[in-house]
Amino acid sequence: MGAMRDLVPLPRSLEELPGALDLSRGGLVAAAPGLEPQGRLAAAWLAEALGRPFQSAVGADAGSARARDGAAGGQAAEPAADRAGFDRAAGAAAPAEPPLVELRLDAALSGPEDYVLTIGPGGAAVAASSPEGAVRGLSTLRQLALSEGPVIRSLKIEDGPRFPWRGLMLDCARSFFRVEFIERLLDLAALHKLNVFHWHLTDDQAWRLDLPGLPELAAAGSRRRDSRIHGVAWREGSYSAADARRVVAYAAERGIMVVPEIETPGHAIALLSSHPELSCAGAAAGGLPFLPEDRFGVFEDILCAGNEEVFALLGKVFDGLAGLFPGPFVHVGGDEAPKARWLLCPKCRSVMKARNLRGPGGELDPERLQSWFMGRVAALLAERGKRMVGWDEILEGGVAGPGGEGVPRDAVAMSWRGYSGGAEGARAGLEVVMCPQTKACYLDHKHLDLPEEPGNLGVCTVRDSYAFEPQPAGLSPEEAALVKGGQANLWTEMVYFGRQAEYLLFPRLAALSEALWSPKEARCFEDFARRLPSHGRRLDALGVNRYRGPLF
Ligand SMILES: [Zn+2]
Repeated sequence: MGAMRDLVPLPRSLEELPGALDLSRGGLVAAAPGLEPQGRLAAAWLAEALGRPFQSAVGADAGSARARDGAAGGQAAEPAADRAGFDRAAGAAAPAEPPLVELRLDAALSGPEDYVLTIGPGGAAVAASSPEGAVRGLSTLRQLALSEGPVIRSLKIEDGPRFPWRGLMLDCARSFFRVEFIERLLDLAALHKLNVFHWHLTDDQAWRLDLPGLPELAAAGSRRRDSRIHGVAWREGSYSAADARRVVAYAAERGIMVVPEIETPGHAIALLSSHPELSCAGAAAGGLPFLPEDRFGVFEDILCAGNEEVFALLGKVFDGLAGLFPGPFVHVGGDEAPKARWLLCPKCRSVMKARNLRGPGGELDPERLQSWFMGRVAALLAERGKRMVGWDEILEGGVAGPGGEGVPRDAVAMSWRGYSGGAEGARAGLEVVMCPQTKACYLDHKHLDLPEEPGNLGVCTVRDSYAFEPQPAGLSPEEAALVKGGQANLWTEMVYFGRQAEYLLFPRLAALSEALWSPKEARCFEDFARRLPSHGRRLDALGVNRYRGPLF
């Protein structure tokens, strides 16, 4: 066990202190009012890591721990009324022992996820600026328990994130994953201090969300014929409203925001399978029916931009999303939308003519039509109190000026085709999230260029992922401040099983977590490689199926 206790991601600062905390008999976690869910999470994580019983209770007799060893020092004594509240909350099971772990809020900590973790012979204390900060501190304690066992050497860690958006995207359209597996990934994301779960719910191959009042979407869109493996098979699955609420609640306990994604106007074949009238050709065109795609790629049939019924249906979809997902963001895709149908469609052409959406030579410009379309979608979201997130193609038709039509300036652009989209978005004044596919954030790529390795479309070594720098060079300080962070994306065209997903995610997700959390000047690949064996044992203890080969 080396410097920084082999923590991943590296904390801002770590001070070694004399002595150690013995958790070998289990014990009590005391959470200050407002941190009850985090108290329960701490007890569950410690019990899992150490195989000892831990319980949680509300209220913290913080003064006694400070008196015992000074390790939890710094906080003001709790008012007597709070101590009485602790006894009442504990009820008949009032603890005979003082708490071994204490959680409390400290408004003096500046950043929204900042925390201080103090461990001494008398106990461990997490002080945080918010419940989310408390979870980050607990994930550090969890890592220490997983790697050091029940006797943890004393320390003081002061920590907080470099970026506010630290995401993981899981494509649940190409392959379906059970809620239980999503919860497992959320728990592992929390271990690495990630805070956004981008849930890719629809695509050409499936519509996975069974929305109240719109049963046809999942009924037609969540089942596809798959002749790629094992002859012909049916691949199916959808999430109910209850499933979505369960994922949101599980994520929220871990300080993770869920961002649902509904693809528009492209990658919409599964949507068209229940609403063919929303394609440019329309239901009456006499073509073959749309079915969830058994192939992968980019398809020319997309949502018609000139049909008001498209916006009416999307409004109903967003009503459903707003009822299930309390977070401020909805991702609406915007990527890989071929314009061949729009250029031929009388309805789409009439919008381009009426709005004068033309290129420099006066020709009708379908990219500007897409910007207009995304602006309509963003307005539908804004009416429901949500902000639009889109892939970097949303920038191609330009960003709306004040009062103008098109992609609004409060949209978030997700840069996937390299770093240039994010840089362009930041220069246009948009907040951006970086997830370049090129040797960084696309974790469906192979770890090594070998036929034995699973993966798709490219190679991205652990070292490549570690080298990810979310802030592209050449931005002004104001533009760089618009880079909100980044995320790992796991596309699942070729990832049929959860255990495959784990193999592709780990340890590259751990490498990316450091790019998103740790101070830039502290990052060093050789140091990460040295810490990785210890961190790998933590993942092993949690049963993670991880890649163990060369890192580069
Ligand atoms: Zn059309």
